Amino acid sequence: MAYSLLVMKFGGTNMQDARAIRHSASLAARSVREGVRVVVVVSAMAGVTNGLLRLADAAQAGDIASANDEIAALRTRHFTAAQELGAAPDSPAVREIREMHETLRQAVYGVYLLRELTPRSRDLIVAFGERLSAPLMSLALEQSGLRARHLTGGEAGILTDAHFGNARPLSGTYGRIRDRLSGLFAADVTPVIAGFMGETEQGALTTLGRGGTDFSATIVGKALGADEVWAWKDVDGVMSADPRVVRDARNIGVLSYGEVMELAYFGAKVLHPLAVTPLQESGIPLRVKSAADPDFPGTLVQARPHEEDGHPVKAVTAIRGVSLVNVSGAGALGVPEVVSSVFAAIARENVTLLMVSQSSSMSNVSLAVPSVDEARTVAALRAGITGELNVEVQGGVAVLAIVGSGMRGQKGVSARLFTALAEGDVNILMISQGSSELNISVALGGAEVDRATQAVHAAFGLGTAVPAAD
Ligand code: ADP
Ligand code: ASP
Ligand code: MG
Repeated sequence: MAYSLLVMKFGGTNMQDARAIRHSASLAARSVREGVRVVVVVSAMAGVTNGLLRLADAAQAGDIASANDEIAALRTRHFTAAQELGAAPDSPAVREIREMHETLRQAVYGVYLLRELTPRSRDLIVAFGERLSAPLMSLALEQSGLRARHLTGGEAGILTDAHFGNARPLSGTYGRIRDRLSGLFAADVTPVIAGFMGETEQGALTTLGRGGTDFSATIVGKALGADEVWAWKDVDGVMSADPRVVRDARNIGVLSYGEVMELAYFGAKVLHPLAVTPLQESGIPLRVKSAADPDFPGTLVQARPHEEDGHPVKAVTAIRGVSLVNVSGAGALGVPEVVSSVFAAIARENVTLLMVSQSSSMSNVSLAVPSVDEARTVAALRAGITGELNVEVQGGVAVLAIVGSGMRGQKGVSARLFTALAEGDVNILMISQGSSELNISVALGGAEVDRATQAVHAAFGLGTAVPAAD
């Protein structure tokens, strides 16, 4: 297919040092030379986001020495890369990187003085990773003979709500991105957008949640009506399981938007859970591709599901760090108002509900929530529910999910899942099937999750291109 416009997102590994950045730039340049307009969206260098979060916490805790050490290490890493990409010490790129580090240092010092790290100041600090990697990509593109210009997410037009740490794009974003980028296209300049961030209408910097650069790329893709959005990664594509857990995990050729959302929601770190949402209306495909093997087609994510014979389940995934919260009380939960007060309390706290199950006697409701939200959930329930109810908590849990549109209407899929878990000696704590029938999820002990993932992957024949006959 002859493309006219592609959005290309480069992940942390693809930006980790000068060599990786140069290779990433060559992938974008290759398409530009073929006459395609390319918008580049970049992540921070691998590990930088975690480093920034660590140093922000250190400053808040009063440990300014550790925070400064970490800033110095980041500075060296970015300067080294700039130098290796051919920037002279007094060049505008190096000056800009120096100024950004200075601003970062001041912001961190402010956190240290106040001993206060608000979600808003954390966003400002953590987004420096992408703001610092964008000029490096511009340098590499220019070195390969293109004209390039880097922009922050806000400068590129990404406008969000004020939900710091997990912001969502506002509808005005799309027109604004078109306006901001059209001049660059007219001048034959390749835009390089710092991913992961946007800004509020008042100009405060926000971030889109961990893994948010995928989301930035699809927001831009929708705005510009791109032919496709390509997310370049360090894996062949979306795989049948996390390749770090399952050795024979296999690349999945085609997935629907719905399947990818379920996979990402249930812990597959490969894409941001909301990344495909901007593409849903327009049907723009997303391709997940390997930078190490650019001619391999990777995974095509599109509107339509694609059934592979004999593979009702396409992937298995898991979330660790989950807690089960069990609300019980003799008969009280049979009263609809009481059940509704349980959910109202959770909704007020904005906690992600991973699983819900209610016993048919209506004497208990079990909820699976991220353990980081456990204390908040319990406090909200104790304060918000009426009636004589007990709230009990079990930590150290994981949720495993199998995902695939082929499960719809297919008999025996749950039986195969439960048999695989039983044969693997894994105890199931809770079960739920989404009404979309795109997934079945089970809660199990956190220590058993890798073993369970491997057993389930094998039981559904996911490691082999041709499914085992059964
Ligand atoms: P990027 O910075 O490119 O977005 P991430 O580290 O966020 O990279 O995501 C890619 C990583 O996701 C892979 O290296 C892999 O370890 C992990 N991963 C987890 N589950 C899957 C899966 N089902 N398919 C592919 N990768 C997965
Ligand atoms: N750098 C951010 C993160 O690590 C965003 C991203 O890589 O997508 O979460
Ligand atoms: Mg990512």
